[in-house]
Amino acid sequence: MPIYKTGLCWLRRDLRWTDHTALKMACSQCKDVAVVFVFDSVILDQLDDSEDRRLTVIHRALEELNEALKKWGSRLIVLYGDPQEQIPHIVEKLKVDAVYFNEDYEQYAKKRDRAVKTTLERKGVDFYSFKDQVIFSGTEILKADGTPYQVFTPYMRAWKKKYKKTMADEQKPNLKRLIAPSRLSRIEKLKPLNFYGFQKSEVLFPLGRSGALKLLKVFEGSLKNYNRDRDFPALEGTSKLSVHLRFGTLSIREAVRFCLYKKNKGAEAWLNELIWREFYFMILDQFPFVEKLAFKEQYRTISWPGKSTHFRAWCEGRTGVPIVDAAMRQLNSTGFMHNRLRMVVASFLVKDLLIDWRKGEAYFAKKLLDFDRAANNGGWQWSASTGCDAQPYFRVFNPSSQQKKFDPDGVFLRQWVPEVFEENSNYPEPIINHKVQREKALKLFKGAALT
Ligand SMILES: Cc1cc2nc3c(=O)[nH]c(=O)nc-3n(C[C@H](O)[C@H](O)[C@H](O)COP(=O)(O)OP(=O)(O)OC[C@H]3O[C@@H](n4cnc5c(N)ncnc54)[C@H](O)[C@@H]3O)c2cc1C
Repeated sequence: MPIYKTGLCWLRRDLRWTDHTALKMACSQCKDVAVVFVFDSVILDQLDDSEDRRLTVIHRALEELNEALKKWGSRLIVLYGDPQEQIPHIVEKLKVDAVYFNEDYEQYAKKRDRAVKTTLERKGVDFYSFKDQVIFSGTEILKADGTPYQVFTPYMRAWKKKYKKTMADEQKPNLKRLIAPSRLSRIEKLKPLNFYGFQKSEVLFPLGRSGALKLLKVFEGSLKNYNRDRDFPALEGTSKLSVHLRFGTLSIREAVRFCLYKKNKGAEAWLNELIWREFYFMILDQFPFVEKLAFKEQYRTISWPGKSTHFRAWCEGRTGVPIVDAAMRQLNSTGFMHNRLRMVVASFLVKDLLIDWRKGEAYFAKKLLDFDRAANNGGWQWSASTGCDAQPYFRVFNPSSQQKKFDPDGVFLRQWVPEVFEENSNYPEPIINHKVQREKALKLFKGAALT
């Protein structure tokens, strides 16, 4: 029996209508459930590219969501502005009794949600939040002494030990409870993307909920070979589902259900990657300072001597190091980069160009379709050897050996830096000498460890 007349489900990075904890709870506790998304002007105002592809990703997901809600006799509410004003405003307009949403573990989101909660509580509106983005939240897997893990392998073992089959069960909302459009007659609908200040751009990925399901289906054939193929950028060896996990067009439970019962090395390796995702969410949640500082204190004082001209060359894919340039050009033109290459270009920026990892992190944050603060920070701190369970500082990727090992036939290179293979090519010489820079990097890290 519903306990409220009207509920509001506030979507953020969970842009789907199935397997959704907050929506399920709203539909079980309220007679009528309205679903809202707010184009958050606080976040959008910080984006300097009006063709930022992520807006196309979000917009496409919302279009599909709206269509799905229409089939259930309702529609999506889409607002623009600061959620701290927009949510209380729509609550008032619709006479909402309770608001439901899934937790977000980023600093900005936590602060925003606390502020909205305080405002609503003052108005006598109930407020419910749920774990949905992860299987285990930051405080659910702790060491025996009650403190958070700082090393992945024991965390992963504890994760698997704690995990029970039912944890990935579908959270199915009763969509018959969605609010009738007649009650939404004067409430904002989804408008074309340019209304929100952005242009539609080309995205090569299948988008929306349908795109997520399509990619999952395609990956079904590759999963068993994931452990073998995952490091080769020219192969379709990985799922490309990160964008969907980021925006919630696929739930983490669906991803876990997909690999859990398949007993092979590929499925096992893929589950471990999903656990890396949770590990980094946990790190960001429990050690929020990592957003700004190296996890390892001894490396916070490093003064990076790298040049800004080198940084620009790295960003633009013209360092004269083919595998680095190929990867950066792929990022700039598609918004995606293979995991192996993310590690290679990150290592190159920090340990060859001697540039602060936070500059690379910020550039990825601008460009990656799947940008996620926790995974991005974790990946950068791992590569820069400043992170909690990072590679040791003396492990410096040699870009040329990486290319020979992981793109041995130059298939990936040919696609992104074809001029390397041309006669009389004007492809530049490397902007640095790897051997020399490696020694400089080792000195920098050793020096920092002594201070
Ligand atoms: C420097 C650097 C920056 C990164 N920035 C991001 C980022 O902003 N957003 C992001 O989602 N991933 C990031 N990663 C992790 C990883 O590169 C991507 O998740 C992966 O390449 C996405 O491709 P996929 O979906 O085909 O992955 P798959 O190999 O199919 O993996 C399945 C899923 O597991 C998760 N995952 C895989 N590897 C990792 C990892 N190392 N850490 C955390 N989660 C992982 C992702 O959600 C991914 O979709 C970064 C890695 C590095 C080294």
